Amino acid sequence: MFRGDLVGTVLLVGPEGVGKRFSTFLGIRSALCHQGNVDGCSCSSCFFLKQGCHPDVHWISPQDDKDIPVGSVRDVLDRIRLRPEVSKLRFVFLEHVDRMTDASANALLKTLEEPPSHVRFILTTERPDGVMGTIRSRCLEVPFRRLSDEFVHTTLKPFEPESSVRDTYVRVSSGCPGLALRLLSSGQLSCRDKVEKLFLALDQQDIVTFFTTVDETLKTYTVKDFFLWCWGVLSDILEGKSIRFSKVQVTKLVKSIEELEDLHLSMHTNIGYQIKFRLWSIL
Ligand SMILES: [Zn+2]
Repeated sequence: MFRGDLVGTVLLVGPEGVGKRFSTFLGIRSALCHQGNVDGCSCSSCFFLKQGCHPDVHWISPQDDKDIPVGSVRDVLDRIRLRPEVSKLRFVFLEHVDRMTDASANALLKTLEEPPSHVRFILTTERPDGVMGTIRSRCLEVPFRRLSDEFVHTTLKPFEPESSVRDTYVRVSSGCPGLALRLLSSGQLSCRDKVEKLFLALDQQDIVTFFTTVDETLKTYTVKDFFLWCWGVLSDILEGKSIRFSKVQVTKLVKSIEELEDLHLSMHTNIGYQIKFRLWSIL
């Protein structure tokens, strides 16, 4: 596809931070480099790409927790009708395609049905089941597998000298180096501490501390990150890597995990009450 041989649309499927965006960047750089250099060079194409302003590469991502609006999709679809400005191809990279509004998904679908010959589309998703069926059926799906812990460790090393700290981020990111880097760069050990406090309160039947800690944590961290750390802390307890939770019964924690998984799936709706009532039922 990056050589231009494959015409059509690719859907990259994999969890956050597994390398979908990074791989796409490397592929596009190699495809558009004027010297044909796979590692990039100082040509104008590589320069524009590095600066994030390549006129033939169009990036579309949702902002914060919002869906991708039809306006930003239409803007790109209008521009790509024109021939490439400095390269032989145009690339459209659209992240989280499952988070398009109906209007934006329909606009994209129309173009995918008859794409201009000089355009290649690369779509990504963490939830392939959430992608509109008619879009998905036009894509070649490429699954991204989680990487080894050793690889994630090596990725973090230039940014975190302390091996035990790296270990914590490696475990919670489960083979996704981009996720580990994001958590590390936003200093999320304090989120982990809060989640530990939460489970200590759970163990001690201290309901007030439990709910106060949930509320406090969600004021600073996203629901998604909160649950990531819940998984991380629970995994550590079950694997005997946490000395603070020796009194907690494993069967009770397994039940907690099942409840949390259920919660995670329904986290898009009415999250405050969901957390309180569902976690209440764990107790
Ligand atoms: Zn180049």
